[in-house]
Amino acid sequence: MRKTLIVGAGGVGNVVVHKCAQDAETFGEIWLASRTLSRCDAIAADVKANTGVEIRTVELDADDVAATVKLLREIQPGILLNIALPYQDLSLMDACLEAGVHYLDTANYEPPDTPKFEYKWQWAYRERFEKAGLMAILGSGFDPGTTNVFCAHALKHWFDEVHYVDILDANAGDHGLPFATNFNPEINLREITQRGRYWEGEWKETEPLAVSHDFDFPDPDIGTRRIYLLFHEELESLAQNLPGLKRIRFWMTFSEKYIAHLRVLENVGMTSIEPVDFEGRPIIPLQFLKKILPDPASLGPLTKGKTCIGCMIQGRLKNSERIATKFVYNICDHQACYREVKSQAISYTAGVPAMIGARQVILGKWLRPGVWNLEQLDPDPFMDDLNAWGLPWHVLEVDQSLLP
Ligand code: NDP
Repeated sequence: MRKTLIVGAGGVGNVVVHKCAQDAETFGEIWLASRTLSRCDAIAADVKANTGVEIRTVELDADDVAATVKLLREIQPGILLNIALPYQDLSLMDACLEAGVHYLDTANYEPPDTPKFEYKWQWAYRERFEKAGLMAILGSGFDPGTTNVFCAHALKHWFDEVHYVDILDANAGDHGLPFATNFNPEINLREITQRGRYWEGEWKETEPLAVSHDFDFPDPDIGTRRIYLLFHEELESLAQNLPGLKRIRFWMTFSEKYIAHLRVLENVGMTSIEPVDFEGRPIIPLQFLKKILPDPASLGPLTKGKTCIGCMIQGRLKNSERIATKFVYNICDHQACYREVKSQAISYTAGVPAMIGARQVILGKWLRPGVWNLEQLDPDPFMDDLNAWGLPWHVLEVDQSLLP
């Protein structure tokens, strides 16, 4: 009998469990393991009420490789979906290798004491996964994940060469709170307070959030928004895997209110990961801040509005000398997500692609030993499943790249 193990009972984990349960025929017996059992049980109760599917729950510290191997040997799942935090990536990959289980995650490893996410640590596992006949899929969320698949689709179906890619991520949702992050605050703030970086034949750097433009998104409920250039992990693999590429950048929208709060928090040292002595014991300011900020999972019932995430891709059309630019994107509605799985659209857009990626492995459509980023795999079944499982995509042809 097929079995699936999901690790991590946070905002994104909640979506993944709901979506896997909607396709229980493919995922079989579904297990949810996380550090706090009560969060697993709460998700299991919701899923049972929504779908009638029974989710088995178990407490697990995913940093403990031996405990994870023991659990994997007891359950014997076909695949482990790592929806915990990037810090758990390597220990869960080690456990999967030891227990002979396929692996998938949504975010690349970064060491807890250095805010520097890079693929080098996980790419170093390639030979071991190949030799074991196992597959590890890296970054199967929306960005990274679906954005990588959009690029692979463009290269397979539209362009002989892709020259310029701008990945655009707009969250036009409003939760009515002065300041909150839409996914894990610690991971989110580490990402956006880094120096900006993009690839143009070589890596180029900018000051954090120093480059911005207005961009008109193709949905009247989103409209024109300010987008800020930042480094995002899919740039690293796409810069290597797209032949003929001249430049790739990543842009995210932030409201003026969000930027103002962020600047104050940075200026007073609250986003620092350097330990400080507080009443005789060391604390990390960013971890303390995470404790007092709203839990992203609690934003679901509050958030109204839409997200738009997509890739603006310019290249030379297939069998032609003509250069064209296409924008391939998804629009997602926060309230519709909440009605379906009790979650806002950020967790939804990250969780659905994790389920879709795992689906391709289980159904044998992607099964290939080794460690892979999504643009290295056949985009067709994934693109079909986006339409089938809640994240339909659209394409616009534009006259030229809209960004300077
Ligand atoms: P949350 O903080 O809401 O959830 C993380 C969960 O992992 C929590 O339930 C936490 O347990 C659990 N966890 C943490 N450490 C361990 C451990 N050692 N052992 C077992 N469980 C552990 O985060 P999100 O759901 O917002 O994000 C989950 C992942 O998704 C992150 O890696 C994030 O970067 C990624 N993501 C990817 C996106 C994409 O598009 N690719 C977009 C958004 C997020 P506890 O409940 O006890 O704290």
